[in-house]
Order: sequence, then structure tokens, then C-alpha cells
Amino acid sequence: MKISPEILNLVPYKPGKPISETQREYGLSKVYKLASNENPLGPSPKAMEAVKKALEHQNLYPDPSHYELLQTMSNEWGFPKQQLAIGNGSDELIDLLTRIFCEPKQGVLTSVAAFNAYEVSAGANRAALHKVPLTEGYCFDLEAIADYFMAHHQEKDIRLIFISNPNNPTGTYASKEQVESFLARLGNRDDVMIVFDEAYNEFVRAEDYASAQNYINKYNNLIVLRTFSKIYGLAGFRVGAMIAPPTVVEVYNRVRKPFNVNDLAQVAANAALQDKEFLQRSQQICWKGLDYFYKKLEELGLPYIHSQGNFVMFDTLRDAVKVNEALLRRGIIMRPVLNYGFKTHMRLSVGLEHENEAAIAALKEVLKEIPVLAGTPIPTV
Ligand code: PMP
Repeated sequence: MKISPEILNLVPYKPGKPISETQREYGLSKVYKLASNENPLGPSPKAMEAVKKALEHQNLYPDPSHYELLQTMSNEWGFPKQQLAIGNGSDELIDLLTRIFCEPKQGVLTSVAAFNAYEVSAGANRAALHKVPLTEGYCFDLEAIADYFMAHHQEKDIRLIFISNPNNPTGTYASKEQVESFLARLGNRDDVMIVFDEAYNEFVRAEDYASAQNYINKYNNLIVLRTFSKIYGLAGFRVGAMIAPPTVVEVYNRVRKPFNVNDLAQVAANAALQDKEFLQRSQQICWKGLDYFYKKLEELGLPYIHSQGNFVMFDTLRDAVKVNEALLRRGIIMRPVLNYGFKTHMRLSVGLEHENEAAIAALKEVLKEIPVLAGTPIPTV
């Protein structure tokens, strides 16, 4: 059996540890999972209602044209349907965009500590991933990414750039000014596609943030990804969205499976997108939770990175493997971020008030139990 090295080198995705597994392994009845940036309020109630009704016709195949959901996206986001598409989570869109734009050995460019799916998709599609270091503030360095592209795109045959804005796991963002000067340099080139992944778009509070959606009609090589997994509370249904030039949407629709997004998922996303009350409630709970975490982390003397997502990455100043283990024993699932090069950091998702309090209380105990190490430097690979 001969398997290509790109496939053999793939590191399987490590999801947040499931609650049931943690309960079994540690003999616990109560476990809180604050590890996967999910919506702690559950799905939008309007989505649940719509899904219950739709159960009756699940003997039928889903609508392969995604007509209703695309219509609602068009109304809500102000783009014609020819510029909109959905996938089985934005994960599927990331994977298929890599397949569409990169032939084997061609290059994908992103940042160090970028959301891990770009690396997995590059490997799975036999493309080569290139990473540019973060800034000192743990941000994507858009200027350095553009410089890297200009210096190396011919030699490395770079065809695709992924910018996660805000980024997971760091929670950092690129400002409107940075996005605009990046696009002014690389926009409208016909040899590279630029993907802005805005999975956490709705949680952003920074006033100088601008969605790349604003520039979709100005640049013909720009794609924006959104997801229904975060603020809309539908991670289990698997719906991601794409706003792109019509030609990209047309090609994507040739490559994707006709029934890639199931009917219940389409129905749920359609209802959730119109549930404004739920969106606002989800924002409020996220922002209140983040402010609580900042205050408590400051009290505990732990450095953290201001987040524009629904999670915060902080430095435990200790071995994160040991911290994680000690937290699990206390029924708290957080996310170590060693795979991104951070050996002493953890990522903590915002939960309900009592879950946030339980996480901080457990962390307080764990800090006493585990000795301090020096903080990790910013990873370079
Ligand atoms: N992009 C980013 C930056 C993410 O953090 C995530 C989820 N962790 C995704 C995309 C994927 O979201 P989904 O596939 O659930 O739409």
C-alpha cells in the first residue's frame, strides 16, 4: 500500500474532550465543557421549533440547491444568491476551496497559530502549507503575509491565503486598516484566492474591526466564510456559509456533494439566522463571560489575550498538560493549545455563569497544585 507523504503526515484533529468520556474516565457525575467555543445557550429556540416541524418530511432528500437558506442569507447579508453558498460546516468549505484552488504541491499561505483546519486541508489535498510568524501581540501579521506572498509566490506556487479574523485559538483580530491595506496589495490578482474566515464575526467588540464582506464587490479574488456553529448555536447540525465571487460559487457547486447539507441543518440555519433576539442574547452572555474571565485572570495573575471570539486564551505559566489533567479531575474541560505551539497556555470558552464560575474555581485550586514554569515564547512554527 502506497500512501502519499502529505496524507501520512496529517495529524488527526483533536476535538474538545466529550463530556461523557470525561465522566467515565474520571468517575464524575458533573462535568462542564468549555473547550469547543460552542454556544452555551443551546440552539436558537426558533431553530429547534422549525426542526421539530421538519422531522415529518425526513423521508425526502434535502434540497440540493439550498434555496430557502440562501434566500434568507441573501436578505440578511445583502448579497445576491449567486454569491452565496453553504457547506457541511465551514470545515467542508475550507477543504473544498483548497481542493479547487490548489493542485498537489502548490502552496497555501497562512499564519503561525492559525485555525488548524487550514493545515489539515492543505495536507489532505497534497498542498504545501506556509506560515508567517505572529506579531508580538499574537496577531496575524497581514503586512508580513503580503510581503511573504510577494517574495515567494512564484517559487512556492502559492494559490490560496487563509486569514482567520478573528483567529482561533488566539482570539486576536486584524483591524479595518490592516485588512484594507492587505487587500489593496493582493486584491484582484488572478493568481491567488484570499479567504477571510470570520467564524467569530458576530462576537467582535473591537471598534476598528471591519468584516471583509465589505470588500467582496471590490475584489474578485476575495472569499468570506461564516458559520452557524458559534453564535447561532448549531455546531451539531454542521452548516458553514461562503460569500464569494459568482464564478467561485459556481465552481464550488460542481465540486461539492449534492446533499452536503442535510435538510434539518438547512431548516435550523434558516430559522436561526432570523432569530435576532437569540443573537443578541448570545452576544451579551459572551461579552459578560469574557469580562468575568478577564477580571478573574487578572486576580489570579495570569496573562491573557484580549479576545474578539467567544473564548479566551491565557497563560497558565505552568505545564499546560498537567494543568489540563488537574482540571479534568475536577470536571472542567478546557482546551490545551500545545498543537499550536503554546506549551503553557489554555483556551477557555465562555459558558453559562455557573459554568464560568466553576471553571475559575477549579483553576484557582489547580494553580496551587502545579509549580510555575516560565511562560512560553510566541511560537514561530
Ligand atoms: N473557522 C474557525 C476560525 C473556527 O474556529 C472554526 C470552529 N472551531 C471553524 C472555522 C469551523 O467551524 P464549522 O466547521 O463548525 O463551521
